[in-house]
Amino acid sequence: MRAENESHPFIAYLEAQLPAMTELLTRIVSIESFSTDKAGVDEVGRLIAHELRSRGAEVTVFPQTTTGDHVLGIFNRGAGSPIAMILHMDTVHPRGSFASRYRIEDGRMYGPGVFDMKASHVIALYAVQTLQALGQMPNREIRMLFTADEEIGSFTSEALIVEQARGAQLVMVMEPALADGRLKSSRRGVGNFKVVVHGRASHAGGGHERGINAIQEMAHHVLAIQALTDYQRGIATTVSEIKGGIAQNVVPDRCEIHVDARANTQADAEWLTGQIYALRPVLPGARLEISGKFERPPMECDAERLAIFERMKQIVAPILTLEHGPSGAGSDAAFTAPIAPTMDGLGAVGDGLHAVDEHIILASLIERTAMNALILQAW
Ligand SMILES: [Zn+2]
Repeated sequence: MRAENESHPFIAYLEAQLPAMTELLTRIVSIESFSTDKAGVDEVGRLIAHELRSRGAEVTVFPQTTTGDHVLGIFNRGAGSPIAMILHMDTVHPRGSFASRYRIEDGRMYGPGVFDMKASHVIALYAVQTLQALGQMPNREIRMLFTADEEIGSFTSEALIVEQARGAQLVMVMEPALADGRLKSSRRGVGNFKVVVHGRASHAGGGHERGINAIQEMAHHVLAIQALTDYQRGIATTVSEIKGGIAQNVVPDRCEIHVDARANTQADAEWLTGQIYALRPVLPGARLEISGKFERPPMECDAERLAIFERMKQIVAPILTLEHGPSGAGSDAAFTAPIAPTMDGLGAVGDGLHAVDEHIILASLIERTAMNALILQAW
């Protein structure tokens, strides 16, 4: 991926910083920060706040009770043309996985959350450091928001993310890159629905005909919901949990399911929501209770997104050739894309997202940091 020009001053500076970057990344990864592990996420937050302050940022901590605290660092507060960088500190890896998974091997660093997205913390911090060290820090406000609950839906950070995106000339969502470093120019929307069937309990022997079997009723809806899946259209529905019944000899009066729904376009997200809410009871006397919505709307790769990509590609051309592609998962880009020019996937190059072999290519820290620095400077 790297272009001929290895002598770009950002690259030269960062090559010398790689040992320090690797050490900082190791420290961040060693603090395990599963989304619901408030103590762990808060410890990452304290380290990040320290690193932000040591680079001259004004730091605000937003205390939370149910998740870790969110941390905001602002450089050049009040200067014009703000850029927001959105990062998250939580991971999908419960405490206890660092010792067995962390290692550096063949130029790769393995560890829980290293790719998603602790390497991005180091990239963002060193992008600013590079600009400062080389006397090229732009006179613009840079808002670096580190949230605590991205992996569980950003319920406590969504408002803060929206607030930082508002008025920004660019929002850089620092999620890991696609394979080969491609940016993420579209994101699937993620919906979360719950369907509850209320039937009528009765004895499975003596009162069979008086019962309304909630599981039988739900069976119709499970199949109907699954049948909404359409790969060609980018729609996927998954009945992902089911609960119902109380005892072997009782006609069950309650059954509930959880539904994960994915769509590539806003139009399909709305269509899918409509289909789920249009479910009607099949058995006489059964009642349905439906709730939920698309928590993260889709980010589409429309003309605006392509224009943002083309401009980024030009800006970073001195150090690498940028490409882009779609991501099947959701991210906080869903919240910022409707408000401000947004691009996603600006983090490290690696593989094994959310898996036991999650890793980054260490050398990618150099070119991805230089890339982010160039964008902060020239956008
Ligand atoms: Zn992530």
